[in-house]
Formats: sequence, C-alpha cells, structure tokens
Amino acid sequence: MSSPPDRRFAADAEAHRRDAPRFCPACAAAVDLASEFWEGDQRRFYCWCSACGWTGEIAPTGETAIGHEPPH
Ligand SMILES: [Zn+2]
Repeated sequence: MSSPPDRRFAADAEAHRRDAPRFCPACAAAVDLASEFWEGDQRRFYCWCSACGWTGEIAPTGETAIGHEPPH
C-alpha cells in the first residue's frame, strides 16, 4: 500500500491488515474492499469483489464465512 496511517491508528491498522479478509469466498480473487465495522461486540468486514460481484460481510472471529488463508 502507500503511506502508513497516523501512528495513533497503527495498532488498529495492524489488526485490520491481519484480520481483514483478502480473498473472495466465492471466486478466491482478491477482494477489493474490506470496510471494517462493529456489530455489537463483533468486528466485521464488509467486502466487495469486483471479479465476480460478490458482496458480503465476513467476521474474522467466531463463525466466519471464509477459512484461514494459507501462510505465504
Ligand atoms: Zn469474487
């Protein structure tokens, strides 16, 4: 990505980068949007895949719509 965010948000950004889903559960292409938000006490990501048009919410904790990505 480009320039790092404000230091105050570095921890959140790190958590976001770690937890944000990167791959579309429908076609496995890279998701184009991972907007983070809270629903109750659960963190969720709203994702959009331009490759297949899939949109959906993915919760990185608890029940999740996507499996763990394999290590690089
Ligand atoms: Zn897709």
